[in-house]
Amino acid sequence: MSSLYLHIPFCEHKCIYCDFYSIAPKENPEHDNALRERFLSSLKHEITMRSEEDRFHSSYETIFFGGGTPSLLSPSTIDEILNLLSRSFHIRTDAEVTLETNPGTVDLETLKAFRSAGVNRISMGIQSFHDDDLKFLSRIHSSLEAKECVRNAYEAGFENVSFDLIFALPSQTRERWEANLQQAMELHPTHISCYSLIVEPNTPLYRMVESKQVILLNTEDDAALYEYTIECLTSHGYEQYEVSNFAKPGFKSRHNSNYWNHSNYLGFGPSAHSYWNGLRWWNISNVVGYSERLEQRLLPVVGEERLTPQQLVEEEIFLGLRSEGINVAGFQSRHQRDVMNDHRSTFEALLDQQMMVFDGEKLRLTPKGYMVCDEICASLQ
Ligand code: SF4
Repeated sequence: MSSLYLHIPFCEHKCIYCDFYSIAPKENPEHDNALRERFLSSLKHEITMRSEEDRFHSSYETIFFGGGTPSLLSPSTIDEILNLLSRSFHIRTDAEVTLETNPGTVDLETLKAFRSAGVNRISMGIQSFHDDDLKFLSRIHSSLEAKECVRNAYEAGFENVSFDLIFALPSQTRERWEANLQQAMELHPTHISCYSLIVEPNTPLYRMVESKQVILLNTEDDAALYEYTIECLTSHGYEQYEVSNFAKPGFKSRHNSNYWNHSNYLGFGPSAHSYWNGLRWWNISNVVGYSERLEQRLLPVVGEERLTPQQLVEEEIFLGLRSEGINVAGFQSRHQRDVMNDHRSTFEALLDQQMMVFDGEKLRLTPKGYMVCDEICASLQ
């Protein structure tokens, strides 16, 4: 099964830690509107051009509007794009259709209209239920607005609502993070993604850390908060199915699972990446450059790589360990290699230390293994 990703590169404001490609409005609203219209028309061109290639005539089971802040688009625009995708590709009738949504950008009526347009999953960028954390992260919403947005999503008919939360904020205590998780669970999301605060180069946060204006949490405290996250969410009925992702039964993100299963996906919009049968390519990270190319009937691709058989093997191991495990027989038939034999000493040590289990089909990390997943992956290279 394949997936479609649409990158909507607009935000109301740039958050200090964000390195995703997106732009915030300038002073001239007319210019911003014109840019948005130009982007939307180019996005439609890109979808149409790709749909004309026979190799992409596949069955698609997920659509994901990410960004940026796709909930800044009007429901009628989302409806138009979904209709175009349905005319251009074979989209399964039970497709998972996710819209990333930021509290403060949508009201009840808008959410209802997104639902009517065909969106059936909302991924909400909540990040924290503490207003001072939200202020530090330079988010545009308050904790109260986040809670109202969740209630509105339920009232609008969404049954599948995911939260993004960030932990390991400077001087964050276990009590404060615990309160965050508690407030999240009281709202009964079907899915929670918890990411540790990462300092990306070329962000305001990076400069704040460099100048010692911000002191990051130390590695031990960060690891302790992560360990607590796993304990807390798994003991409340959320299954950990990836290092940072937890879901109630039946609510794993099918879209993200496809990425981690190395399935094919097509990405549209500036900076979007695509992967198709061992070939990966990516679009220009500039909305004007993106539009200029498509206006000349050129695809906006600026780079590609054909994964070697060895890279495919390494990626499958890495993605499998981060998520739901490596299917040993599937691995053998895809790569004519015995993954256990290739990494016997490492895997046996992990099995001995209860960091990994083998259920007769898959080798997968336990919560204890997820805690050191990066180190495990590095040791296999
Ligand atoms: S809203 Fe999301 S995409 Fe936009 S700047 Fe903030 S973190 Fe980045």
